[in-house]
Amino acid sequence: MDEMAVLIRYGEVALKGGNRHHFERILMRRIKEKVSDLMDPDIKSKGGLLIMDITKEINDLNETKKNDFLGRLRSKLLSVFGIDSISFALITKPNLSYIIDAAPGFVEQLRRDRAIDTFKVEAKRSDKSFPAKSPEIASKVGAGILKAVKNIGVDVHNPDLIVNVNVRNENAYIYEDRIRGQGGLPLGACGKGLLLLSGGIDSPVAGFLMARRGMSISAVHFNSYPYTSKRALDKVMRLKDQLAEYVGNFDVRTVNLLPAQMAIRSKAPENEGTILTRRFMIRIANIIAEEVHANALITGESLGQVASQTAESLAVTDAAANLPILRPLIAYDKRDIIGIAKDIGCYDISVEPFEDCCTVFLPKHPVTKPRLENILRSEEKLDISGLVQEVLEASID
Ligand code: ATP
Ligand code: MG
Repeated sequence: MDEMAVLIRYGEVALKGGNRHHFERILMRRIKEKVSDLMDPDIKSKGGLLIMDITKEINDLNETKKNDFLGRLRSKLLSVFGIDSISFALITKPNLSYIIDAAPGFVEQLRRDRAIDTFKVEAKRSDKSFPAKSPEIASKVGAGILKAVKNIGVDVHNPDLIVNVNVRNENAYIYEDRIRGQGGLPLGACGKGLLLLSGGIDSPVAGFLMARRGMSISAVHFNSYPYTSKRALDKVMRLKDQLAEYVGNFDVRTVNLLPAQMAIRSKAPENEGTILTRRFMIRIANIIAEEVHANALITGESLGQVASQTAESLAVTDAAANLPILRPLIAYDKRDIIGIAKDIGCYDISVEPFEDCCTVFLPKHPVTKPRLENILRSEEKLDISGLVQEVLEASID
């Protein structure tokens, strides 16, 4: 019976010392949650590597079921933040003759799925007390493969297969490649952010990027019902479900901004409508952030994308915030944002044509360089704190 493990690497060099232990614990917890419907994993931390034994799980499976299991496990692990790369590895005893015996079978197994005419062996000795050095391990394992596998040759420059051998204290591992993971930090390792989640392309991507840096997410969505439809809300909830594939399940508070938008429209200059609405959103977000214990707000703003995203507008927006506003897309081009939105499966949902609360009341010529003193003067004519209270009270489900 083959013994198999997934080698899970986490890359961040910054995570030295005491932090590392904390990080590993959270990462292991995230992995366990993520794969829980497939298996109850046995994960061990050894010398900067997580080793997840899957021998028991694949033991009784036929070839098709085994491949299906490995495929699902792979895609789950590739969505976990904090994983730098993974490898599916055959386990052998850390003894050269065992490794030489096991390697041909490893090659034959891969050959069932694709043509492999050439190979090379790359060996690494993590256990420095191991009697053979890396070049010797590589050449002996290579010779063993040449002897036992028919019609195969060595090509050190452009092989069809690289057989990696890693000899460690507890075991030796034979694997083909390192499959790149999400990178970043495990969810929950770096506080919590309140995401201002619209139905657009940008904000889900912003939430994804902050979560990849370890920030757990809670969200608020503003609507202008009945000017915006129930279907627009349904779209946001589907975006949330898609984002949850990476970010884990999270709450979305929905808040109807209509009373504030009406007041702004009737009492403030038309061209200030957008910036006043944005400051109003931030004020509501301040309060919700406190309730959900968030350390920051997150938006999908990108410099220069629209009138409300000029440097001047961002400064005036910031002045309404009690917490830092994190804008991970600030320097991103739209095409790059779209690329990420597609990768994470949000794009097709985001482009569905439902009205957002902001588009309903969009002024024709918004100010692009608002001055805070003018905006404050306009806000004096609005009963901001009364409106905040009204909107929040109406939004409690
Ligand atoms: P998006 O694609 O994320 O909707 P956008 O390019 O349309 O962004 P704006 O409409 O100016 O830009 O919004 C900027 C940011 O403000 C959004 O990325 C989002 O974080 C927040 N925001 C806008 N509308 C809403 C809303 N209805 N509910 C919650 N947050 C919103
Ligand atoms: Mg928008």
